[in-house]
Amino acid sequence: MSINWGLFRNFEQSEYECKCGCRSLEKGEATVSVELVKYVQELRDKCGFALPINSALRCKKHNDDPKTGGHPTSAHVDTGQGCMAVDLGVDREKGRIVLQYALDMGVFEGIGIQQRGSSRFLHLDVKKRSGGKAFWSYA
Ligand SMILES: [Zn+2]
Repeated sequence: MSINWGLFRNFEQSEYECKCGCRSLEKGEATVSVELVKYVQELRDKCGFALPINSALRCKKHNDDPKTGGHPTSAHVDTGQGCMAVDLGVDREKGRIVLQYALDMGVFEGIGIQQRGSSRFLHLDVKKRSGGKAFWSYA
């Protein structure tokens, strides 16, 4: 299903596009979950500051690249329901604010935290898991 990006004030398709240069989204070879984009916009509205997307959709090749370090069953890969995950490039005080709002919203199925070293981000996804909501740290 294609997304009407005009509905989302602060985000464009290019921000959700695969970072390897394959242009999977633009070409229509993959999609992003509308639910995810809607929730991330809601989160952006609550925060009132920019939420840079470090990674959203990943084609399988990009996800499998050791430099990407994607999990084999990553929610970033479209396996039929669109990309269901974003990694937001937020840290420190902003990172804490985003995390608090994301938890309060209660709509994200997976929340992963990487807040050490040079690559700090917050992973949010809407991928339903048999065990319920998942919360983890990459450290
Ligand atoms: Zn790609």
